[in-house]
Amino acid sequence: TAILTLNNVSKRYGSNTMALQDMNFSVKEGEFVSIIGPSGAGKSTLLRCINRMIEASSGEIIFDGVDILKLGKKSLRKVRATIGMVFQHYNLVTRLSVIENVLHGRLGYKSTLAGAFGLYSEEEKKQAVHILGLLGLEDQVYKRCDQLSGGQKQRVGIARALIQNPRMLLCDEPIASLDPNSAKIIMDHLKNISSTLGITCIVNLHQVDVALKYSDRIIGINKGKKVYDGPPKEITEDI
Ligand code: ADP
Ligand code: ADP
Repeated sequence: TAILTLNNVSKRYGSNTMALQDMNFSVKEGEFVSIIGPSGAGKSTLLRCINRMIEASSGEIIFDGVDILKLGKKSLRKVRATIGMVFQHYNLVTRLSVIENVLHGRLGYKSTLAGAFGLYSEEEKKQAVHILGLLGLEDQVYKRCDQLSGGQKQRVGIARALIQNPRMLLCDEPIASLDPNSAKIIMDHLKNISSTLGITCIVNLHQVDVALKYSDRIIGINKGKKVYDGPPKEITEDI
């Protein structure tokens, strides 16, 4: 069954940039989908439209049976709580500790106040430590994020998304700033999260070889339009 369906989704910036044009696709629950395409193709716009970090200009985005574009503020907040985001530049509060950054995934993204740590229950802290352990960060729990490597920062980003108990992860170029070895660790974690926890993953990538290796399915986009949609094995070089 589909967890996400886009019907004719378009996004125009200003008066002449059509960043997305009539995007149509469905994603099945638990599927691992990579979105590939050159810089400027509209990949980032696409992911940001899905959880309404930016507003699509037209179309429908059906997530778990409801049209996200029609939700009011309160219901949107509820739906967003089930959609985790992972960013290229991690979007961590670097002066805070690893565990504080993870716990922010529970309080919501506005609560990046220093001192918020006391607001969390022991149970929540335990859960954060547990998730950090699954990501191989058991020795980093109380370090400041600015002491971590890029690959470790991205694992904190993933932990922050996971503590929300998401049904879907949207990952915008999660490995674009990482060396190949750290990139592999991140992709292995994402793949594992999708296959063992059944969490749907939609991952923007510009490396075709990585998409081929990890995806159940690849959606290729160029100039805001879908140019490929299918299994990795049938993909050709020139999309
Ligand atoms: P990608 O993630 O594939 O590199 P983007 O979604 O970032 O592509 O960009 C798609 C198109 O939309 C590009 O032409 C880009 O210049 C334009 N664009 C992206 N963000 C904005 C914005 N905030 N305002 C105006 N144009 C934008
Ligand atoms: P603003 O800069 O407008 O005050 P934020 O930066 O807090 O707002 O977030 C803007 C939007 O981006 C929010 O609606 C939120 O859904 C999304 N967002 C920001 N950071 C994250 C994150 N770490 N995970 C998921 N969504 C995020």
